[in-house]
Amino acid sequence: MAKDDLECSFCGRKKPETDLLIAGLDAHICDKCIEQAHGIVLEESKQGGAKELSSDLMLSKPKVIKAFLDEYIIGQEATKKVMSVAVYNHYKRLLQPKSDDDIEIQKSNIIMVGETGTGKTLMAKTISKMLNVPLAIVDATVLTEAGYVGEDVEGILTKLLQAADYDVEKAQRGIVFIDEIDKIARKSDNPSITRDVSGEGVQQALLKLLEGTTVNVPPKGGRKHPDQKFIEVDTENILFIAGGAFDGIERNISKRLNMQAVGFSASQSEDKIERTNLLKYIIPKDLKDYGLIPEIIGRLPALTYMDPLDEETLRAILTEPKNAIIKQYQKLFEIDDISFEITEDALNYIVGKAVEYKLGARGLRSLCEAILTDAMFEMPEGDETELLVTREYAEDKLNKSTISKLKAVS
Ligand code: ADP
Repeated sequence: MAKDDLECSFCGRKKPETDLLIAGLDAHICDKCIEQAHGIVLEESKQGGAKELSSDLMLSKPKVIKAFLDEYIIGQEATKKVMSVAVYNHYKRLLQPKSDDDIEIQKSNIIMVGETGTGKTLMAKTISKMLNVPLAIVDATVLTEAGYVGEDVEGILTKLLQAADYDVEKAQRGIVFIDEIDKIARKSDNPSITRDVSGEGVQQALLKLLEGTTVNVPPKGGRKHPDQKFIEVDTENILFIAGGAFDGIERNISKRLNMQAVGFSASQSEDKIERTNLLKYIIPKDLKDYGLIPEIIGRLPALTYMDPLDEETLRAILTEPKNAIIKQYQKLFEIDDISFEITEDALNYIVGKAVEYKLGARGLRSLCEAILTDAMFEMPEGDETELLVTREYAEDKLNKSTISKLKAVS
């Protein structure tokens, strides 16, 4: 066949009508068809990408999210509900194609108020596990304004990048948990007295991240690596969850509630207010009175509270969550072919001690360690294949351990 007679097997153009005709095994393709095919490939991969994104995020309905949280976290119903809705809306917004109407769904960052050890970090960890997105946990107390001693706010994104194995796309739809946000509250009502390096200034810096901005992030963080190339990270779709104990905020709440109660239906409101957990009545204004700037509060629109852990909850935390502490020990012993049982009486004893020593849920683990260390040290090499922990056993081990010295402190 003469060269000029060759034609594109796809569109039929003769060679002279094309700029380029590429030969395959027994077919030809022209430049125009290549371009078209390339366009199709791009389009397909874009759609595939969206699919991948959604399956990656495993977008679940709020009730499914709540049920997942229930498997790992005891109680905290109010926060679970707020969290499920906020997370659902956040990722729904993320998967939404850009539409022509002017309705722009705003981010639903979350703020949780509650005593330390009530499960705030656990909540953020569980959500990130469920969504399969990277999570960075940062402590607001170490943050300072750029240029001061401490960590720059950008460092938060360095952590997120690290959690995402430096996959920027992944990091950009991850979760940042900012712990102890109450510690960057404005120290005084008059911001002009001295420069408030670790308070309002940090809040201002944080605000930019919460609002959604593009930040040049040093991949290794800090100023120790001046030569490193920056990575650009867009915070638009990062979900921020903040948590804090806000010690003493109950006083603000109670004052506010009493002031309201002074109105016409005083006695009635008084009756309705449950005194055990005033945090239940928290509103954004209380955060403002505590020293968070209104802009920050506005960027953390989902406000929720944690219940203090009572004995019943502590008892449930020991055995009920999917990775409950007792289940973990059972597994550890199982690896050495040892069956581990603990009596109800012993469990109640541990809970009692956690309450007595004011250790909260975190203390449950230290108490179990103190009780079980001897067995974990001796048994793997011994002949015994069963361990039954009774109240007497627990009491005996605990009395011999240093943790019992705590009694003197409290
Ligand atoms: P916070 O962030 O509020 O200080 P954490 O989430 O770090 O508290 O909780 C400390 C530990 O206590 C967790 O690792 C978890 O084992 C346990 N814990 C606390 N609250 C709960 C809860 N509601 N359900 C299950 N475990 C809990």
